[in-house]
Amino acid sequence: MEPDLDTLSAIANVDRQATLLVRERDKQLLLVPAAEEECRAARGARDAAKEVFEASRDEERRLNREVHAFTGRKAAAERALDLGTGSAAAAIRQLDQCTAAIDDLETQLLELLEDQDELGETLAAAERALGQCEARLTEVGASSDARLEELEGQLAALDAEREVHLAQLPVEEQKRYRLVIDHKGSAFTRIDGGACKRCYTVLGPQRELEVKRGRVITCPRCARWIVPG
Ligand SMILES: [Zn+2]
Repeated sequence: MEPDLDTLSAIANVDRQATLLVRERDKQLLLVPAAEEECRAARGARDAAKEVFEASRDEERRLNREVHAFTGRKAAAERALDLGTGSAAAAIRQLDQCTAAIDDLETQLLELLEDQDELGETLAAAERALGQCEARLTEVGASSDARLEELEGQLAALDAEREVHLAQLPVEEQKRYRLVIDHKGSAFTRIDGGACKRCYTVLGPQRELEVKRGRVITCPRCARWIVPG
């Protein structure tokens, strides 16, 4: 007994809708990992900017410590001169050396602080970018979860609808459907220009005519049912 064409067409229609939903579900499932990957990259950029900025702060502290040390030595030389202790010439030499060293260190500090302004801006921009990525991840996560739940609901409804139609087919044909679906991913094809649209086997104009007249036939090569398109 040939399966009823209306039932087969109804199942083919359900399968078509389910395929679209599965495709969307697969896309939805990729959204969160993609947003997570963006966050990882943004975090890496922020960490790198922070490291450079902190290295600059370390260098600033080191230069300040040196300024402090030379300032102490300069004060000691000034004290020695005031009190007239030790060699005045040595104290003057020390004073000059310290003044020159402090000048040099302060020049270095000024340059460093200028660079640090830029590094600080880079770090702030990286922090902002990371914040945006994290906000987007939260948003994508929430909307994706909601959409996935909706899609699963629609797919479950289609599964139930398919079962109702399948139950109307002879048991042998039900088995056939499940077997072809398992092996091929789809149980239906169309005929176009005399050829199967799935496996491209040439079936000839006679078969095309039969399909148009409502006969239920299967493709001899891929075993799918041919439904009118
Ligand atoms: Zn075929």
